[in-house]
Amino acid sequence: MKHPFTLIVALFATVGIAAAQHIVPEPASVIPGKGVNRKGARTSVMNGGDTTLDFASQAISTVIRHDLKSHPDNYQRRFYKLAVDADAFPNPEAYRLTITPREVRITGGSSAGVFYGVQTLRQLIDENGDLPCVTVEDEPRFAHRGLMLDPARHFLPVTDLKRFIDAMALYKFNVLHLHLTDDQGWRVEIGKYPRLTEIGSVRAETDGDGIPHRGYYTQAELRELAAYAAERHVEIVPEFDIPGHSVAAVASYPWLSCQTIDTLQVRTTAGVSPDLLCAGNDSTVAFVRDVVREIAAVFPSPRFHIGGDEAPLDRWVQCPKCQARKTALGLKTDAELMGWLLGQVSETLEEAGKKPMIWYETNVPRYPAEATMFAWRMGLTPAVTDSAAAYGWPLVLAPGEHAYFDYPQAADERPAEWMPVLSLRRAYDFDPQGPTAIGVEATLWGEYIPDIDKAFYMAFPRALALSEAAWSRPENRSWERFRAKLPHQLRLLEQVGIPFRRPADKELD
Ligand SMILES: [Zn+2]
Repeated sequence: MKHPFTLIVALFATVGIAAAQHIVPEPASVIPGKGVNRKGARTSVMNGGDTTLDFASQAISTVIRHDLKSHPDNYQRRFYKLAVDADAFPNPEAYRLTITPREVRITGGSSAGVFYGVQTLRQLIDENGDLPCVTVEDEPRFAHRGLMLDPARHFLPVTDLKRFIDAMALYKFNVLHLHLTDDQGWRVEIGKYPRLTEIGSVRAETDGDGIPHRGYYTQAELRELAAYAAERHVEIVPEFDIPGHSVAAVASYPWLSCQTIDTLQVRTTAGVSPDLLCAGNDSTVAFVRDVVREIAAVFPSPRFHIGGDEAPLDRWVQCPKCQARKTALGLKTDAELMGWLLGQVSETLEEAGKKPMIWYETNVPRYPAEATMFAWRMGLTPAVTDSAAAYGWPLVLAPGEHAYFDYPQAADERPAEWMPVLSLRRAYDFDPQGPTAIGVEATLWGEYIPDIDKAFYMAFPRALALSEAAWSRPENRSWERFRAKLPHQLRLLEQVGIPFRRPADKELD
């Protein structure tokens, strides 16, 4: 054996290449180094006393499953070194991770960038706690990398949402969109309108099962949840869906609707309801403004989703108040009246320093200029992308073809006949485009997702595919490479306790 040292170095370099090739989402650049950083070579975390990095520093202990001391000063030679260098990175979410035999260094454009570097570290560590030497330069393609949960259809307790946020952070998602209100349930405490939770948070049964379903979040719980998410660099965007998807609100306060039907109950089946909030009733408009103000005060996010989807306008056509409002405003169509109502809400949001997000519908002729639009309906992404470009609306792409994660992953798992199969491959083939696109989002509509374990099962591993559409450069993405990384990632999911659906071999062809 002439060159034993060379041989060992070569072997370690190979290990490093293997681990570094399994990172999801695929980083911008990975340069394998030589050697290994042994677990015993690291005894402390240094963050220069930057308190914005305290959470990332603590997260390292979790990652390596080993207690570390945190020291602000450089008194030891072997360490993790975390730092923010805003000048070095124009993108605040960018980071550089450098692992040598002696140290692990993560420098980010902000504390978020450093946090993402720690998440990459988690994917590199082996079962012995050792790390391959490597340099990773990385930054996200899109600023909005979201997943949507729907506790309106099936309530999800706060502890479950926290587990989900932890899983999101592992794959560098940064937006949790919470669909808090719908026909089947009202899930957020509103001080001024207590019946919304007294009445609206309870339904008699679900699809005839005879079992009452209930649950809601207090504002204090949601504040605490938002803070938990923020530590993990996840922004919670609340959604109060108007003027459709409002049966739980109308069941609580019948005067909100056009017809004041006091026999309407919180809806017990899936589907689209004709009972909307009345756009002609001043009290209803005041209600919407009040609710928006209360929810806006709970969440620090500068954005607020106001729904706008699936609102059949037949009730408005028959409503004297809605028609009188339309005439008084000089509007020609009921769809224009809907645009007006969304505009009223946008004014209230502006007073709160926030901007609206809206599910785009092609029949609404005018939307608030400051809105962010969501493309969601199958087949309509090109039309929405064109409209967003024409009006200058930021665009979030959540197309049904690739990003509806409530759709089954295989034909034999279909909960409803009409649902198409959305395979892992189909999720991966999502190629987000558009001149005003700010990001992507996958939706987990909750009609057939009764609890968080089912939500995890539906989200993972498809969320890994979406994370690459959201984060990675298009030229760095390929199904073959993703498929090769999957076994490593599924082991990681098992290790950290994230439930997931294991794809059948034939689904990976
Ligand atoms: Zn009306």
